[in-house]
Amino acid sequence: MVDLIPSSDSVMQILKRTGAFRVGHFVYPTGKHSPHYFQMPLAFRYYDTAKVLAVALSRKFRLERDVSSQLPKVSIISPSSGGIPVAFGVRDALSAEQIYWAEQESGRRMFRQYVNQGDMNPCIIVDDIIRSGHAIEETVALVKELGAEVIGCGAIVRFTSAPDHLGEFPIKSLVEFDAHFYADGDSCVDCKENASVEHVRF
Ligand SMILES: [Zn+2]
Repeated sequence: MVDLIPSSDSVMQILKRTGAFRVGHFVYPTGKHSPHYFQMPLAFRYYDTAKVLAVALSRKFRLERDVSSQLPKVSIISPSSGGIPVAFGVRDALSAEQIYWAEQESGRRMFRQYVNQGDMNPCIIVDDIIRSGHAIEETVALVKELGAEVIGCGAIVRFTSAPDHLGEFPIKSLVEFDAHFYADGDSCVDCKENASVEHVRF
């Protein structure tokens, strides 16, 4: 079953082909500059690539006894809208019973109203990309408030600067990406070469 998980290189090829991974000269809202940018929903707009990526991630969870022994009574949780197609794909591949997603409302991450204490099965948190790990940490806190247990966590891409464990669980990913950022334009190599800039929203 492990052989059916595509290599990091072949996942990166999918991300490049769909425009989800872009190379250039990008400026983030924080003012940081970077030679690369991920816009993951571009990979999830196509049925075929969405399916390949979500099924691959789901296989990493199925290999975990903690997860496989509890299926189908598992909830797949997305920390944000970007993770929703990942969560649906993983839920489908694992035949897991439930799905929930959090959203940002007035600057706070929260689940929709009327999700109650005790409603949630043991949880796997999945996202499209883990850049800092903050979204995952906030989602873990939300899940725990509802009395649910976290049994796994993963994303299609994880920046190597983000945590690789969630408590005792290793965070699963298909690509471990060594992201490079310059603090500002003064330290940016592409700025020194007057390369044209693309401003990205987040
Ligand atoms: Zn720059």
